[in-house]
Amino acid sequence: QAADDYQQMERATKFFSYQLRQHQKAPAVVEYLKGRGLSGEIVKQFQIGYAPDGWDELLKALAKDQRSREQLVDLKLVNRNDSGRYYDFFRDRIMFPIRDRRGRVVGFGGRIIDGDGPKYLNSPETRVFHKGRELYGFYEAKQAHRQLQQVVIVEGYMDVVALAQAGIDFAVASLGTATTTDQLQMLFRATSHVVCCYDGDRAGRDAAWRALENALPLLTDGLQLTFLFLPDGEDPDTLVRKEGPEAFKQRLAQAQSFTDYFFSHLTESLDLASDSGRAALLNQAKPLIEKIASDYYRDELLQHLARLLRREVSQIEGQVARASTNV
Ligand code: ATP
Ligand code: MN
Ligand code: MN
Ligand code: MN
Repeated sequence: QAADDYQQMERATKFFSYQLRQHQKAPAVVEYLKGRGLSGEIVKQFQIGYAPDGWDELLKALAKDQRSREQLVDLKLVNRNDSGRYYDFFRDRIMFPIRDRRGRVVGFGGRIIDGDGPKYLNSPETRVFHKGRELYGFYEAKQAHRQLQQVVIVEGYMDVVALAQAGIDFAVASLGTATTTDQLQMLFRATSHVVCCYDGDRAGRDAAWRALENALPLLTDGLQLTFLFLPDGEDPDTLVRKEGPEAFKQRLAQAQSFTDYFFSHLTESLDLASDSGRAALLNQAKPLIEKIASDYYRDELLQHLARLLRREVSQIEGQVARASTNV
């Protein structure tokens, strides 16, 4: 069953890819992709495709019998409505196949081209697709590098593909959700340096802090987590096209350190000149530092914290419990 599911997902990928070449609407879709700065080469590399405008194009192409039709329903490529009619889940969308770490297509992201409806539609969870455990572009990034020096986490499919096109071929996207501990763990098994680079908006800044919180139990001595905050209104795709690869790489190299971001976020709305402000900082920092098993990061944060609190490290160390060693 499982092997057959992956085969069916691969067939769907080929089908969408083929539609981008031969469908009557294909030239308009290709124009759209070109307008977003993508080359034919990068489209091929990520196997970007087109889900045709129509009710049951994929269904007709892939459902050979009752059994394979039900399988398409299970894989959420096909829906069945209340009156028993079957229809394609993705219609008239640009399709981004999501591969697992072994390169098997497990789900899709579909972007609307024009008209209304949600801008992105993702495959729902299925028996082969578990969103919080996959990362778009991870397989492709691993293919491009024997050893990944760093990995950049971004929000969207287009960000991954636009960065790859600009030669920054080590970006992954966390599929619309906040970056989970599972996803961070996958990344830290493949690289020692992860850069979080979300959109320059409220949602992006919130996502950065959540990623930091999720990373706390994973940080070990040799690992590095940095944060690149983009100008308001920009995302990696818009910025790399505006500024070019070199400027973007420069930004990556100058990303904010874990410790800097940790304290700049916590102290944002605190007055450290007052006793109550310093007490609040200790209160907020304590439970977070207690999640860190790494001696290096624990010491670094405690030293920084002591400085901000105008105390000696020895005075605060005893108040912050040690994390039991995990992972
Ligand atoms: P584009 O560059 O294609 O115009 P965007 O940068 O405006 O898209 P964002 O709104 O920043 O897209 O969303 C980033 C990512 O979040 C998307 O790539 C997608 O993975 C996810 N996402 C966005 N909107 C939705 C949605 N309605 N449902 C599910 N996922 C979504
Ligand atoms: Mn956004
Ligand atoms: Mn975008
Ligand atoms: Mn965006």
